[in-house]
Amino acid sequence: MSKKKDGIMVILSSPSGAGKTTLVNLISKNKGFHISVSHTTREPRPSEIADKDYYFINQEKFENLITNEEFLEYAKVFNHLYGTTRTPVIEKLEKSENVIFDIDWQGADQIKNKKLNYKLITFFILPPSKKVLFERLSNRDMKDKLIVEERMKEFSRDVLHWINYDYVIINDNLEECYSKISNLIEAEIDNGSKDYDKEYIRKHVDNLTS
Ligand code: ADP
Ligand code: 5GP
Repeated sequence: MSKKKDGIMVILSSPSGAGKTTLVNLISKNKGFHISVSHTTREPRPSEIADKDYYFINQEKFENLITNEEFLEYAKVFNHLYGTTRTPVIEKLEKSENVIFDIDWQGADQIKNKKLNYKLITFFILPPSKKVLFERLSNRDMKDKLIVEERMKEFSRDVLHWINYDYVIINDNLEECYSKISNLIEAEIDNGSKDYDKEYIRKHVDNLTS
């Protein structure tokens, strides 16, 4: 069991474009969670700020971090490497500070399997429909149709991982989605846990993938 003074870890994963980065930022702003800044070998997007959104590094540096066993988790996503270094996370948790992660299902699995001595809550975010997902991706990555196509192609595979998360939330209205996540985090911190309607989500995923 985690000691009472330790911070907690919250992971948000989703198919690309469902809104997890937006939600992670809201949770950080409103609830004071530290966002875990990942390392990646992909190129920055025009709106991204180095060392705040990601540590943008080359393949060689990434491989050095692997060799030195600095990663809590890492994975290949969309042909690029992404990873979370261990030290900044553990330092915050030990200071009773909470940390939120925007990482994919591979990273979530790795952190879960490590069975660290800190409370961990995992959320999987779904879009209301494939059409809405396409619109969100197209708005965000306006200049790069290839990215949108690539991420839509991955969607059907990514979405199947919902089953391994503590909670699955549909991000239709942003405020409502945020409130649901926030309430669940509070309930978990108070040592309660809430259920979600797994059958409803299963049907939603069936619709999304049909
Ligand atoms: P992800 O991190 O899952 O890839 P983002 O947070 O970047 O997704 O969101 C994708 C796009 O959709 C962004 O342009 C974001 O502003 C927008 N977005 C996120 N949530 C909503 C929502 N509930 N309603 C409308 N637009 C949203
Ligand atoms: P993007 O390139 O759109 O920022 O992120 C692509 C995917 O990589 C998203 O699913 C995001 O959650 C995931 N991701 C970002 N950082 C990490 C990380 O450190 N580890 C893992 N496993 N996935 C990450």
